Amino acid sequence: MEKTLVLIKPDAFGANHSGDILKLYEDAGFKIIAAKVMQMTESLAAKHYAEHIGRTYYPALVEFMTAAPIMAVVLTGDDVIRKVRELNGATNPAEAAAGTVRKLFATDKTHNAVHASDSPESAAREIPIFFGACEIFD
Ligand code: ADP
Ligand code: MG
Repeated sequence: MEKTLVLIKPDAFGANHSGDILKLYEDAGFKIIAAKVMQMTESLAAKHYAEHIGRTYYPALVEFMTAAPIMAVVLTGDDVIRKVRELNGATNPAEAAAGTVRKLFATDKTHNAVHASDSPESAAREIPIFFGACEIFD
């Protein structure tokens, strides 16, 4: 079964929106098979956001992601990668559709509540950054 990595970012986690966000995913039929609260470090951020190193927004992104705890989650289900990105909405919350996580809980392009893998290749690369095999219950 397909898997995706979700990060509930410091803004949404700190504002106690994790339960509401996970409920949206569960109500859509997806199963939580791994979860942890953790502090992202600069080196973890560099690994996870490797393709964004050098972009103008990268320093602000790392500063934000490492400033306070996050929740890392692995979800599984049919077409979970595409559907969770749809549930999350556009990167820029101003452009996110009604009812999406980012419309409901994000503030701006940096403080945008959630991350989700964008392809099977991304999911396969990202999940092991946050979870060991024995922490995933699939
Ligand atoms: P997504 O998280 O929707 O997959 P990207 O992979 O393009 O978006 O970017 C990763 C993260 O980097 C975004 O979620 C956002 O926090 C940040 N980011 C991307 N583009 C910008 C931007 N133009 N300005 C500020 N932050 C950005
Ligand atoms: Mg992305």
